[in-house]
Amino acid sequence: MASSTRTHIDTLLQHTGTAAFDEVSGAAPVALPPMRTSTVRFKDLAALDVAQKRKAAGDRVVTYGRMGMDTNAALEDVFKQLEGGTHCYLAPSGLSAVTMTMLALLSAGDHALVSDNVYGPVRYLDQTVLQRLNISITYFSSQDDLEALRQDNTKLLYVESPGSLLFEMLDIPALATFANRHGLVLAADNTWGSGYIYRPLELGAHVSVIAGTKYVGGHSDLMLGAVVTTNEAIAKKLNQTQYAMGYAVSADDAWLALRGVRTLPIRMTHHAASALTVCTFLESRPEVARIHHPAWAKDPGHALWQRDCTGSNGMLAVALKLDAERARRFVDALTLFGIGFSWGGYESLVQYVEPSTLTPHRYWNHATETLVRLHIGLEATQDIIDDLTQALDRASA
Ligand SMILES: *Cc1c(COP(=O)(O)O)cnc(C)c1O
Repeated sequence: MASSTRTHIDTLLQHTGTAAFDEVSGAAPVALPPMRTSTVRFKDLAALDVAQKRKAAGDRVVTYGRMGMDTNAALEDVFKQLEGGTHCYLAPSGLSAVTMTMLALLSAGDHALVSDNVYGPVRYLDQTVLQRLNISITYFSSQDDLEALRQDNTKLLYVESPGSLLFEMLDIPALATFANRHGLVLAADNTWGSGYIYRPLELGAHVSVIAGTKYVGGHSDLMLGAVVTTNEAIAKKLNQTQYAMGYAVSADDAWLALRGVRTLPIRMTHHAASALTVCTFLESRPEVARIHHPAWAKDPGHALWQRDCTGSNGMLAVALKLDAERARRFVDALTLFGIGFSWGGYESLVQYVEPSTLTPHRYWNHATETLVRLHIGLEATQDIIDDLTQALDRASA
């Protein structure tokens, strides 16, 4: 198949990472099998020498199992297609993709600017590991503050857009302009977009980080992360760090992600349409103070979403005019929503967001409200709305 930049991503997702034909039989399975291995063996020393030379030159040549063989390589190709990147490094979870990025791009004495809406465990990484390595972080609330917060040792601008609690859209092109002016690397956590509905690299970011655990896997049955870039120098650092830290992904997990991603187009479209219908329903309820979902026209980030995104997903947060006790009763009364973290699988999920989690978020100054995050799954939309209706009725009774 000729590769053309005009081929739609939906098509590429069905035709990337397929099995090659067997040279003798001329046959191939449609789905590439999981190629498990710890050790790679070579026909003779000459073959090993060739492999070592190509590897030293930067080619993806496997001489040992940690890097993963064809299944992992196929998944890397899929992430490159999704994100519009030229290099992809897999990690055993989304969080390890974040740590790979930080450890590749920061050294002792360096400083990073991180958006205050960042995925919670990034603060834990900062407090436990980065500080110990003498790497410092300043969290910023507004893009207007960046100039004042930048230090001489600032090397990295790390953002998440939209945030994963209130779904604030950041202006990635403006952040890229700032980063380029000061020689900083701009890295974006793109788990929300997963390369399908939002492409930070095309908007100017240098690195895109994805938790494949969410929409790429899509079935709540694996942990996986990826880091994608188009920048050769950054790719080299990521490659070294991935190798040095021993980040390895099982071929079975890579296979599950490959299997999941083929249906990403229809899943994402359905999640998004259903979530928007749920927003319309929620707005009609007296218990609802505000809806956070960038595809929702009243969301403060809607204009940026229209400019920078090509779609939406099933994530939304709803601010309730209910006290904590009633909000918790609402969550407990839901029957179709699993109470749990994470998202991006086929099922609906609910998270009661602890108020302390929201303290650093500039968008949140509504002390009298409670916040509940919903992932709208692939259940029939009307059943989801019926469930939300009975739970809101019970909570406010
Ligand atoms: C879930 C998530 C991660 C971490 O992914 P894991 O695979 O759970 O480690 C990182 N960033 C965002 C935005 C996430 O939602």
